[in-house]
Amino acid sequence: MPTQITPNQLVQLIIPGITSVFSLGFTCAWIYDRRLRYLRFLAASFVAFALGSAVQICHLPDEWRLNALISATFYMSSIQLLAEGVLRRAGLHLRPATHALMFALALGGIYYFSFETSNLLVRVYILNFGAGALMMLTGLRFRKHCNGRAVNRVLLWVLLVFGASFFVRTPLTTLQPLPHGTAPFGQTIFWVMLQLSLALMGAVLGLVLLAAAMSDVIDRLTLEHDLDPLTETFNRRAFERLARRRVADKKSYPLALIAFDIDNFKSINDRYGHAAGDAVLRRFAAILLAAVRESDVVARIGGEEFVFLLQGVDDRIAYQIAERLRTVLESSRFDQIASTLCVTTSAGIARYRAGEEVEQWLARADHLLYAAKRAGRNRVVTEASGQTRDFPELEIV
Ligand code: GH3
Ligand code: MG
Ligand code: MG
Repeated sequence: MPTQITPNQLVQLIIPGITSVFSLGFTCAWIYDRRLRYLRFLAASFVAFALGSAVQICHLPDEWRLNALISATFYMSSIQLLAEGVLRRAGLHLRPATHALMFALALGGIYYFSFETSNLLVRVYILNFGAGALMMLTGLRFRKHCNGRAVNRVLLWVLLVFGASFFVRTPLTTLQPLPHGTAPFGQTIFWVMLQLSLALMGAVLGLVLLAAAMSDVIDRLTLEHDLDPLTETFNRRAFERLARRRVADKKSYPLALIAFDIDNFKSINDRYGHAAGDAVLRRFAAILLAAVRESDVVARIGGEEFVFLLQGVDDRIAYQIAERLRTVLESSRFDQIASTLCVTTSAGIARYRAGEEVEQWLARADHLLYAAKRAGRNRVVTEASGQTRDFPELEIV
């Protein structure tokens, strides 16, 4: 067992040092926002890599076969944790059985080529080709989920290039003379070259992942700023911003805006209390959110007023959607209020007219909404005449 660390080893220890700093960065980001759970996998991945290289550099334990097995265990864990972290960030994951199989195959190979027959080259190929393949596969799976964001596109390319580099770098590095006998692998020039090139790409990957984590933290903060805490729909400020964005993008036309206002809501509060009113608001918001596509916007813009902005939808479809949502609310029952009572909503639908401001568009939808109120509530009114429909009188709360 070595008693002293040589200057050479000290320089080499920069690699696990830098990897540990990345791990700390991911841990801090996770502590800041614990909902970003994938950060734990990334933090663990970088720690595992740091441990694997430290084990090799300090040749702890000194017995080379054991050292090879322990460092390989850390390296393999590191790459699998990295893959899992990247996939989880995109809402994907690998099955535990797949992880177990990959781990067993790699470690089984390392064991065999250390303890049964000694072959350094095969051990290097097993680990490096395994890592490269897993990284490229992770990149390919992540590809469909990167939603065009710049940081995701960069991450995708770094994963693919880093993954592919294992297949090029490993044969190139193994052209170096291989160590003979039982000299600790961690002291050879061969290993240092392997580690340095790996560290360079690892640092690029670490920086891109940190940038991705920071952008996720900022996104979540923005989202919190934009969401109504009671219903988790967008608030008025976010609606106006998002609506302006849709309006500026002509590809999203035609745009339809449905303005909803719950009927006689004040009397629900008066008769059953504010908490019952809140439950109704949450349910209606859930009904709207269940119907929303990624390109649509649902927002609560007033006490019991909601808007639903639909992109690429004409008046006829918007009317059908509003009608469906109206009937879903009408047939909903609430524990907090009498089951014989219906909670209803009125709605007005306005199609966006080129050149108008979002406020004008909203005012037109509101105008139609109040036409629905005047016509007796629990109905949908569009700009085209003859599209209002009367519904049988219901007991209105
Ligand atoms: P109409 O059919 O004409 O829309 O009548 P309404 O009673 O729904 O309309 P009004 O504007 O008179 O009442 C809206 C009520 O919404 C008044 C206010 O107390 C209530 N309200 C506003 N925000 C909240 C909230 O966050 N929670 C609850 N429970 N009630 C709210
Ligand atoms: Mg109302
Ligand atoms: Mg109102």
